[in-house]
Amino acid sequence: MNDVVARLEQVRNNIASAEDEASRTAGSVTLVAVSKTFEAAAIVPVIEAGQRIFGENRVQEAQGKWPALKEAYPGVELHLIGPLQSNKAKEAVALFDVIETVDREKIAAELAKEIARQGKAPRLYVQVNTGSEAQKAGVDPREAVAFVNRCRDAHGLAIEGLMCIPPIDENPGPHFALLEKLAHEAGLDKLSMGMSGDYELAIAFGATSVRVGSAIFGER
Ligand SMILES: *Cc1c(COP(=O)(O)O)cnc(C)c1O
Repeated sequence: MNDVVARLEQVRNNIASAEDEASRTAGSVTLVAVSKTFEAAAIVPVIEAGQRIFGENRVQEAQGKWPALKEAYPGVELHLIGPLQSNKAKEAVALFDVIETVDREKIAAELAKEIARQGKAPRLYVQVNTGSEAQKAGVDPREAVAFVNRCRDAHGLAIEGLMCIPPIDENPGPHFALLEKLAHEAGLDKLSMGMSGDYELAIAFGATSVRVGSAIFGER
């Protein structure tokens, strides 16, 4: 068996164990396989092994490989998990099924415009900068609930959940707990949190989807 397929299988098993340990329903956590920096040839075996949900962090890179893969493998679902510039909203709405990184008014407005224009509405998550890190994308936790409400009320956008990337050098647990609390306050039940190093912990804190790259595809 291909290495990448063996690692995918391992991640799936770990997710199932983490669901079980957290008394979560089997199959309630969605695996988003993060294929950024990997070429189509490396992604195909993972699709053929049954994985259908993928994450990319750059619009332009995704445009280079995913239109052909989506054509070849109907049913593939693509998530944007990296920062979105407002001048890329058009391309992002056209290509992605889920955009996880809505984090400012201008993006919300551009997405609303493109969704109306294209008649195609990706599902949307608001990214929260749970560590309030200066260099990191995402809304400040204190602004998150109000921002979700403004997306709905001012821009007519249906927000499905929240997403976070905890600070690299901190215990992620409190960040996962904060995201869960904010989602509850905002009336949302989807939580995108957990990466290769901490997806099992994220599941214990209520993640409904985990974004796993290197544990499947190998080091970048
Ligand atoms: C790259 C990336 C991931 C996956 O990271 P790994 O540590 O390789 O699993 C998850 N989420 C986001 C936002 C990323 O940019």
